[in-house]
Amino acid sequence: MTKTVKNITINALDTRLDVSGSHDELKELAETFNSMLDRIQRSYEQQNQFVSDASHELRTPIAVIQGYANLLDRWGKNDQSVLEESVGSIKTEAENMKELIEKLLFLARGDKGVQKIDMEKFPLNELIDEIIKETKLIDAGHDITTNHCESISIYADRKLIKEALRVFVDNSIKYTPQGGKIIINCYSLKSEAVLTIQDTGVGIPKGDLPYIFNRFYRADKSRTKQTGGTGLGLAIARWIILKHNGTIEVESTVNEGTRIIIFLPL
Ligand code: ATP
Ligand code: MG
Repeated sequence: MTKTVKNITINALDTRLDVSGSHDELKELAETFNSMLDRIQRSYEQQNQFVSDASHELRTPIAVIQGYANLLDRWGKNDQSVLEESVGSIKTEAENMKELIEKLLFLARGDKGVQKIDMEKFPLNELIDEIIKETKLIDAGHDITTNHCESISIYADRKLIKEALRVFVDNSIKYTPQGGKIIINCYSLKSEAVLTIQDTGVGIPKGDLPYIFNRFYRADKSRTKQTGGTGLGLAIARWIILKHNGTIEVESTVNEGTRIIIFLPL
């Protein structure tokens, strides 16, 4: 056992102790050790996957920026229209990259346990009003309202909760055709605040539901290509809600819509 354990490195994380003999306590120890290795190996592989997905996502905007820079270099200097198109695209891609990096940094701070959380008591209904008002300013294509919002206060990090709600509302906007409805409600139920975000959008196929909170996961690859996005929004929102000892439920029907239900301790 000692010899095997000494040889375990990050490059040989799939090594396991031999538990075939029936030496009671030693066997139990070996089994415990093996299941610990299972857990370490799993999170190591997840972390690797995360780094590789992140690098992959960063390659696209960099390639686009490089492409336009080369174009400018070759013909753009004297051609006003090439110049304008290139500068516009470089700006957009740089902005996309900045957003992606900010999301990655948020998740990394969460993983490391250094994300700051400032708890305060605040009225949830006022935050919802604020979000509805702000959303109306940037999106005129949907009918965004509330039809039941009790005045309840929660003890939480207002900025983070707002960020999480933004993720859900942004998704409802993105995955609901123009003219659709988005309804945000809140009420108290026993010792919890319940928040719902409901849309009349494209919905999420049953098979995708278990994975939508995973990092970089996007349902329906062909459709999501057009809408843009990285698949990090829900991973961030989930982190925030879990940090507040809350839970999230999703109900969705394809072509009918999606309802997100968030429970937070009052
Ligand atoms: P971003 O990081 O920009 O938010 P994203 O919106 O693709 O990118 P998530 O917010 O994590 O990523 O959502 C993951 C996937 O879940 C989406 O790609 C989409 O397929 C599906 N999804 C989430 N919310 C909805 C919704 N309200 N209606 C339909 N599909 C949704
Ligand atoms: Mg999103």
